[in-house]
Amino acid sequence: MTNIIPELNNFQIEKIDLEEFLEFLNLDSEVKAFLQKACELAKKRKEFLYFAGGVVRDYFLRKNTKDFDLVLEGNLEDFLKELFKEVRGEILFKSQFLTYKVNIEGNSGKTFIIDLVTARRELYEAPATLPKVFPSSFKEDILRRDFTINTLILGLTPPYEGKLLDLLGGKRDLEKGIIRPLHLFSFVEDPTRIFRGIRYKVRFNFEWSEEFYQALNKAFEISSLEKLTGSRIYQELKLYLLKESLENLKDLLELTYDLGVFEKVGLKLKRERFLNLVKWLEVLEKELTFQEKEKVFFWGLIWNSSEGALRLGLSIKELNKFKASEEFIKSRVSFLSKMGLSEKVEFLEKVPFLPLLVLSLFYEDLKEEVLNWIKVYRKIKPKLTGEELKKMGISESPKIGKILKFLRDKHLEGKIRSEEEEKQLVEQLLEEESFLN
Ligand code: ATP
Repeated sequence: MTNIIPELNNFQIEKIDLEEFLEFLNLDSEVKAFLQKACELAKKRKEFLYFAGGVVRDYFLRKNTKDFDLVLEGNLEDFLKELFKEVRGEILFKSQFLTYKVNIEGNSGKTFIIDLVTARRELYEAPATLPKVFPSSFKEDILRRDFTINTLILGLTPPYEGKLLDLLGGKRDLEKGIIRPLHLFSFVEDPTRIFRGIRYKVRFNFEWSEEFYQALNKAFEISSLEKLTGSRIYQELKLYLLKESLENLKDLLELTYDLGVFEKVGLKLKRERFLNLVKWLEVLEKELTFQEKEKVFFWGLIWNSSEGALRLGLSIKELNKFKASEEFIKSRVSFLSKMGLSEKVEFLEKVPFLPLLVLSLFYEDLKEEVLNWIKVYRKIKPKLTGEELKKMGISESPKIGKILKFLRDKHLEGKIRSEEEEKQLVEQLLEEESFLN
């Protein structure tokens, strides 16, 4: 594998129209004002402030970026202290990697969050562990990055104000659509970069370079993926869902599988299940919160495997809950089609929500019913509330629950629609004392 690091002393510098770049970012005017202040201060302190990583990459790809990496070659903590004399703001979070999340209050009172990072060098003491970091130069900060396409720098202050610095041929790889790690041991040091490389390949429809495969084989040879903690694997897979579009999820999972990455990290997954899982997530897309989708995704992936749950650090208590729900469903699912609507709904509502969604992946008969329930029936509720029933003269709470269920059943059967009809029905029930006793 060619070592691309020596190119570092002889790097490409290109003039860039900063105004146009900032316009492309389409920043809120308050964020722009903040950036202006930060640049002035960096100039005064003679520290190099620059954009790096995704934001520069996406500018050349003409893709919108949601967040940006603002890097300071210097003492960021001191820098922020001084900046907060002029700008209203506070440090919300400081990580062990010398990165800062700051909250800024603009002139209008609107607040926004900005990520600032210190140019740093990384030291990996063992494969697949988190590195130690030390403040360093922009050159070393570039050397710690994952792929050449993420190594472009856009300078905001001297000595490279308005300059694009391309230290490792990132622009060429970006133009050719190539994902190239920086060195042979890149994935040994940090196997999560493999997941990142998979995401970039699918997202941008790029190719992996020869060096990508070489670095992958090195990581396989040294068994570095086995050393990744469950929570880091979990976080990387979660990004498939969080940062990528759902329509790419199947490709992401299949590529991960085909590269042998799932197997190497110790996850025995079934490739043929991916399509079903992704389709189900697509169908549920608008019905679920992100946290619910995340659960369906992970439990659907490793379904029923205690080994998989342990590897990803999922709760075994939760796994047992899922298994108990499966026992409950298994014995009754064949009767579902013979049940009346309210009976069906009552049955579905006895099963905890998430197990119900995950089990639908494996029981076709259940899936259809769950879908109807999620989209339509679970949203049907009586208009009258318990309080209103009390005002109508019903005092005891078990009776109230019984009436509310009765009203809901009548709605499900399509027998009533309005609050008026509900009231009439309740009046009738009050007359038929037998119902309430
Ligand atoms: P996205 O578009 O997915 O948000 P991004 O490039 O902005 O991509 P981040 O995860 O926000 O990615 O990381 C910011 C930058 O930090 C990346 O561009 C990359 O240069 C660097 N980086 C992030 N994670 C790693 C890693 N595991 N190893 C090396 N460099 C990394």
